[in-house]
Parts: sequence; structure tokens; C-alpha cells
Amino acid sequence: MRTLLSGGIVVSMDPALGDLERGDVLIQDGLIAGVAERIDAPDAEVIDATDRIVLPGFVDTHRHTWQTAFRGVGADWTFAEYLAAIHGRLRPSYQPEDVYVGNLAGRLEALNSGVTTMLDWFHCAQSPGHADAAVAALRDTPGRSIFCYGAGWGTTDPVDTEIRRVRSGLSGDGLVTMALGLRGPELTAMDTVAAELKLADELGLRTSVHIESGGTRRPIADLREHGLLRDTTTFVHANGIGDDELRMLADAGCSVSISPDIELKMRMGWPMTGRMLAAGLRPTLSIDDTPSGGGDMFATMRTAYAVQRGLDGGLRSRDLLEFATVDGARACGLAARTGSITPGKDADVILLRADDPTALPASNPVGTIVTAGHPGLVDTVLVAGRVVKRDGLLVDVDLASLRIRLLESRNRVATAAGMGPRDTIA
Ligand SMILES: [Zn+2]
Repeated sequence: MRTLLSGGIVVSMDPALGDLERGDVLIQDGLIAGVAERIDAPDAEVIDATDRIVLPGFVDTHRHTWQTAFRGVGADWTFAEYLAAIHGRLRPSYQPEDVYVGNLAGRLEALNSGVTTMLDWFHCAQSPGHADAAVAALRDTPGRSIFCYGAGWGTTDPVDTEIRRVRSGLSGDGLVTMALGLRGPELTAMDTVAAELKLADELGLRTSVHIESGGTRRPIADLREHGLLRDTTTFVHANGIGDDELRMLADAGCSVSISPDIELKMRMGWPMTGRMLAAGLRPTLSIDDTPSGGGDMFATMRTAYAVQRGLDGGLRSRDLLEFATVDGARACGLAARTGSITPGKDADVILLRADDPTALPASNPVGTIVTAGHPGLVDTVLVAGRVVKRDGLLVDVDLASLRIRLLESRNRVATAAGMGPRDTIA
């Protein structure tokens, strides 16, 4: 089975291939088979990419997808208010069905806006059924997803048995894979961090951990002292840590996920883009949560670009696109499979409308994407060569019934939590 993306403006994000003003991309059996100005493939199904920017799909390295039913309600929340409302009140009222619907709607939303790879940082794990529902929703969406299982969230209990159980069901090589979400040194004792990392090593899992504090607490220095910095760990936010701790992360080969909109709005600290680059780290970008922030990578790139350019002029628009594609793929352990349009990689490709009024005349495709891009430009999305969005519409998705399920879930959870419209759905 061969598909030819014909005559697009190709932004490959592969340094060896660069950009093509007019190029063809050949896909065979789900893989990128060729990228060139012209490819002759008479047997291939042709997707006309005229007036389309052909780009690798975005990689979101951290999203709490289960919260999708509460989009926008936390626009004005502080971080403390977010914790109190989402984790203190709403999360205990979530049933597995609510997790399923939230994850389904959130993963589809991400796919619709060109996020082909997404790490679902799941911390609504109050029962095995909740975890299974989250995985089921990811599997029911044709995106590349990493189920980052934050087992035992809200407790300090050992969770080995449950992690092993979920791992046994997610050991294959399909589009949905697994990582382990650590509670980390801020929520558990260092012995627990060590034990969870040991288990992750044994099960072959990458890890991700939130770091909210810094200053005198020096969480990264503590982890290093205990020999617990791994090149398979992604640190989320971490704005409070010192430049010397950033260098420790760089030395250990760790990655970092920044969520610029949420970090600024919730006053977690300034997004670390410039400090990371100075320390030798490549940032990756993430959405974090949609009750408080938007769900697409265009706005995330734009915020990250603007706030760093406000400090110094060194950052280029292409850097942002790298953070959102190749650098994100590396942080997910998927650099060999996705993140650029490179022969041999899986065909995770998006086509953006260069002829939309908001993108015209797209003279500088990368600059246009970063400064003016939005989900409305996403015309076509392929994941592992399969077309999952075409002509601006998700394929085989009943959005009307999804909306009803999401509203029902929102009302059920809010009611069970004793929260009325003014608290959550104003
Ligand atoms: Zn988070």
C-alpha cells in the first residue's frame, strides 16, 4: 500500500533533507519511503498537497487528558485553586466512564490539531478500572500515545502490583505504549523514588516526574546525590531549579517538558527555554491541562517563542518547531520512529492549509506556522501512514455523540463533587 503526498511545501525537520519549496513524500506500508522534489509512483494513492505545508506531526510530552470535560473552567485559577478543584474535589468523583470519555475527547482533540504523538500523563488512577478506561480510550483513537501511568497518585503507598498489571497489558509494539509517571521526590520519600525507578528499569519503561519547587530545596541535586538521574526521565516544569541543576540534567541526558501557558498563568515561574538552551538541553513542549489552558501546539509554540524573545533575541522560530516535533519525539524515546519526515520513520505527517486567509502567502512556512498557525489550518493528519483526518475532518468520528457523552460526564462528575454551575461550568 503506497500513498504519495504530492506537490506540497515540505518542512521535513530532518537536517539532511531540509525544506522543499515543492516536494513529494512517498509512504509505503506506514513508513516514509522517500522525500524528493518529484517522485514517480504511478501505483500510489495520491493526496494532493498543493498549497499545503507538509510537516511532521506534533509531539505533546505531557497532558492530563482525563480532565477534558472541564475545559476552560479554570481559566482564572491559581495553581492552588487548580489543585483544590481538580484533585481535591472533582477527581475523587471520576468514574472509569468519565476517564474514558475525557481521554477519548482529549486525544481526538489533540489529533485534530495535528498532535500525532501525545504523552497522556494519567493521575486519576484511583482504581484499576480507571487506568484500564484511560488506556481503552487511547486505543480507540488512532494516534500515537504514551500512557504515562501515575500510579498511586495522592498516596504514598507502594503500587508495584498495579504497575505490573498495567504493563502486562501494554507490552506490545502498537501505537499505544507505556511510561511510568513518578510521584517523585516532592510527594514521596527518596526510597520510594528509587524503588519506582528500579521497577521502571525492570519493566523497560521511561519515566516522567513533575518538579514544582526549587530554590533551597534543590530536588535535582538531591536526585543526583542518590544516583537517580536517568537519561530515560523527563522532568515536567521544574522552573524553580537552579542553572547548576539544569546542567546536571544535561549531563545525565535527561529531558524536560515545559508548559509555557500554564506555567505563566499559574505563576509557577518563567518557562525555562533560554536557561535550558544555555545549559545544553533542548526543551520539549506540553499542554499540561485544558481546564486552565488551550490544547494545541501552535499557541504553545507561540507563547514559548514570545516569552523567550522578550528576554533575549537568540531563539528562532525553527527552534520552536524542533521543540514541538523532533525534540519531543526524543523525550518520548521515539526519535527513531517519529518527529521528522525521514525515510524509514513512521509516516506521522500533517498537512496545513497554506491557502487559508490566516496563512497567506506563507512565504516563510516555518515562520508562518509558529507566528500564525492554529488548529483550523490542519487539513490532513496521517499516523503511521493511516489518514485519520482529511479535508479538515476527523475520519470516522461522531463528534455530535462525543459532545453529548462529554457533557453528561461533566454534569455527573460536577454533581457528585457537589459543585454547581458557578463553580465549574459557568
Ligand atoms: Zn502536569
